[in-house]
Amino acid sequence: MSETYHNYVDGEWVESETGETFENRNPADRSDVVGEFQQSSEADAEAAVEAAAAATDEWANTPGPERGAVLREASKNLEARKDELTETLVREEGKARPEAAGEVQRAIDIFSYYGAKASDIGGEVKSSSSQDTTLYTKNEPIGVAGLITPWNYPIAIPAWKIAPALATGTTVAFKPASLAPNVARKLVECLDEAGLPDGALNFVTGPGSSVGATFSTHEEIDAVSFTGSSAVGETVGDQANETGKRVQLEMGGKNPVVVMDSADVDEAVDIAASGAFGVTGQACTATSRAIVHEDLYDEFVEGVVEAAEDVEIGPGLDGADMGPHVSESELDGTLEYVDIGVDEGATLETGGEEVDAGDGFFVSPAVFSDVEPDMRIAQEEIFGPVLSVIPVSSYDEALSVSNGVRYGLSASIVTQDLSEAHNFVEDSESGVVKINEKTTGLELHVPFGGMKDSSSETYREQGDAGLDFYTLSKTVYLN
Ligand code: NAP
Repeated sequence: MSETYHNYVDGEWVESETGETFENRNPADRSDVVGEFQQSSEADAEAAVEAAAAATDEWANTPGPERGAVLREASKNLEARKDELTETLVREEGKARPEAAGEVQRAIDIFSYYGAKASDIGGEVKSSSSQDTTLYTKNEPIGVAGLITPWNYPIAIPAWKIAPALATGTTVAFKPASLAPNVARKLVECLDEAGLPDGALNFVTGPGSSVGATFSTHEEIDAVSFTGSSAVGETVGDQANETGKRVQLEMGGKNPVVVMDSADVDEAVDIAASGAFGVTGQACTATSRAIVHEDLYDEFVEGVVEAAEDVEIGPGLDGADMGPHVSESELDGTLEYVDIGVDEGATLETGGEEVDAGDGFFVSPAVFSDVEPDMRIAQEEIFGPVLSVIPVSSYDEALSVSNGVRYGLSASIVTQDLSEAHNFVEDSESGVVKINEKTTGLELHVPFGGMKDSSSETYREQGDAGLDFYTLSKTVYLN
């Protein structure tokens, strides 16, 4: 018998008014049921929003240092449950154990970081042109935030939205992804046990089309922060704009590593392979295109093929390097793109096949060579461990291929030429630019966000910038 888990509304763990639940299974072992979660309706989502709205005065008027203390206590609670949370994450989402442990550690660090920031949120004193005037800015919480998150970082992404929202005094209605709600539920438990007042944080599981859509449209929601696919993000953005909300959208990517002729090939292979095959390619910043100078092309392809073939595939709980896809439809999506690549005339050098590593959604990492920049495998987000290697003959050509997609999330260049590196920083249409580093991996104290169809571009997440989205600023002239 699997356990049934509840929503968290106004400080209570409650059942959905539908009386229905949905089942979540381990993607590495389909016989393993992770749990039953509430199949919530619009009415459940509305109750969560109303609880968050009723709690705004109390939480906004709680002094910053006290709000910070709650966040730091939550961080300690997460730390105390680190091994359990890691296991939960691996079991429901499929990551390799070290990847999951790193993600849980990130959530711990985020609550500690914003716990410290909560005391400094007040505003700034400025000098005035009049001697009689004290001029200052005063930051206030925006009100109620609706947070909608994806399955691929099921504790880190909720953490990097919930922590800055609560730090500012904003209250929250939160919907996790249906494919990975359990570690998010445990995060809510850690906040509940940290002493958060009733209603400051509400958690509702269930379909995006009912719970998520209620958050994007409800009149009591002031701000919607969404991370997920570009297709859903566009709908959420339209609905939030139509109902006059502040909106933050972080969406897909088609991230390139450009390898120039001055690069060390082994280093370039490590950078591209770890960015492409880490977390089973299921990262918004995953490397999915390697744009490689023709002088190094053959050697680079040989290196990434070897790296792909070295990856040990299997259940994360058994210690494998690379876990399964999160679901059958994600696995099918990757296999379909492999077929598309072959049909388009690219050369499948290795991988791209279903792997029999247990009763789960395992696939071998794939490398395509002879890829043309306009092929679908070089243009569309695959969200699986598939690397397309595209030959180029100059920096200008590499740049044009690198920028020639609808996305602009994370781009990297591998080069020993400093002016080439600076030019790439200048010319890259990408929210994150890296030099001699993989496209994945983020520091929590600096802004994160994309350009073009990867992001709404208006507000960044993480670091100080992460607080701005949940803050209204007043300018005060005191004579
Ligand atoms: P998704 O299908 O777009 O779902 C994201 C969230 O939106 C889920 O909670 C989903 O609920 C919900 N949702 C679905 N339909 C909705 C609707 N009509 N209204 C409101 N909410 C709705 O994305 P995903 O498959 O979970 O995640 C993978 C995608 O996220 C990839 O494209 C990846 O690049 C992107 N991503 C971006 C970033 C970034 O920071 N840029 C980071 C991580 C991931 P259900 O789960 O119930 O369907």
